[in-house]
Amino acid sequence: MGLDEDSLDYHAADPPGKLEISTTKPTNTQRDLSLAYSPGVAAPCNAIAENPDDAYKYTAKGNLVGVVSNGTAVLGLGDIGAQASKPVMEGKGVLFKRFADIDVFDIELDQTDPKEVITSVSAMEPTFGGINLEDISAPECFEIEETLREEMDIPVFHDDQHGTAIISGAALLNACDITGKDISELDIVFSGAGASAIATARFYVSLGASKENITMCDSSGPITPDRDDVNEYKREFANATDADDLADAMVGADVFVGLSVGGIVSQDMVRGMAEDPVIFAMANPDPEIGYEEAKAARDDTVIMATGRSDYPNQVNNVLGFPFIFRGALDVRATEINEEMKRAAAEALADLARQDVPDAVVKAYGDQPLQYGPNYVIPKPLDPRVLFEVAPAVAQAAIDSGCAREEMDLSTYAEGLEA
Ligand code: NAP
Ligand code: MG
Repeated sequence: MGLDEDSLDYHAADPPGKLEISTTKPTNTQRDLSLAYSPGVAAPCNAIAENPDDAYKYTAKGNLVGVVSNGTAVLGLGDIGAQASKPVMEGKGVLFKRFADIDVFDIELDQTDPKEVITSVSAMEPTFGGINLEDISAPECFEIEETLREEMDIPVFHDDQHGTAIISGAALLNACDITGKDISELDIVFSGAGASAIATARFYVSLGASKENITMCDSSGPITPDRDDVNEYKREFANATDADDLADAMVGADVFVGLSVGGIVSQDMVRGMAEDPVIFAMANPDPEIGYEEAKAARDDTVIMATGRSDYPNQVNNVLGFPFIFRGALDVRATEINEEMKRAAAEALADLARQDVPDAVVKAYGDQPLQYGPNYVIPKPLDPRVLFEVAPAVAQAAIDSGCAREEMDLSTYAEGLEA
């Protein structure tokens, strides 16, 4: 059977879908029930009414993330609507649970107007410890996330923007280390100027890249100050260039970042890049240029990453969001700020430089996993990612003043490993 049929069977197996609620307290006796619900439940209600932070003590809020979508940009499927996005949002819940033991309510909103989405999500603050926005189309996603971050006192994180930014950012840090290039001097070309590309470009600047060295291309070519057909987010990266198209822009570039569509980069374009080029071709399911094709185009070191699991250096968001939220929730952070994102990227980059345990090598079919061009970021099934990234994010939250709960990070890391 093909993947499609297998997947339909997988989802339809009884009970349908991928998530269910389970209870965490005894419910065996009349007494248990009168504690869980009326009349005993009044006591924690009164405590929370008096001290709102007690919600973290007496309810599941502190380990509960809302995965919220309006279905306007679902995977590569486009605007398929809120209802049709539900399998993806349940799937995100599966990953949160599997990788970081975080519980999720998936929320599919039948709303396309950003103002309505903002009102709905903002009103859900009492329920959740954090909000993961998912598969909301650009440019609306920028306004939605920005406003919610201002209005809400819990972390709001649009994974399609920041996940890719953080994980490819880790890969970029290590690519600089391996090639001996200085991040501030990299000449970087983006193909794509949507949700993930804008956030990734912003994040690379936050890691030390210079904005003047970024050329961003959308479907009409390089974004320059004289173009009047671009939104304010693209305009942020408008730079003067003589290049007329992506191929021109790539001549002499150190880094190519593809967050657009498959198959638009040729071997010739790769040949025109600077020495030891970095190519992150992350369009899914087909990268801007194939792994083998890009590698074969040149004799020097090509550091290549894609979104695919069947090649080295898979940029997979699951390396980020479970652990970033784990760290943020555990210190009751009020947001996921730039410092926390940078800490996550640096922790991932550091981890890739360490020896890989045999169990992880085995899980990936005994292929060699050793720091170098073909291994610049850890593998998603490496259990150490949790122990490294979550504490780094928690520490950054504390250091940057957005943690509501202080904690001893050394015992925290041990607790995660237990
Ligand atoms: P998006 O918001 O829809 O943005 C897509 C961008 O690609 C738009 O700016 C669009 O240009 C541009 N584009 C389309 N055709 C192009 C072409 N021929 N040449 C240059 N640019 C072109 O989508 P997104 O969420 O950012 O995702 C973009 C791609 O990255 C998808 O393939 C997605 O699967 C992939 N992605 C991968 C990862 C990962 O590997 N971890 C994570 C996130 C996204 P216009 O603005 O002119 O329409
Ligand atoms: Mg997504």
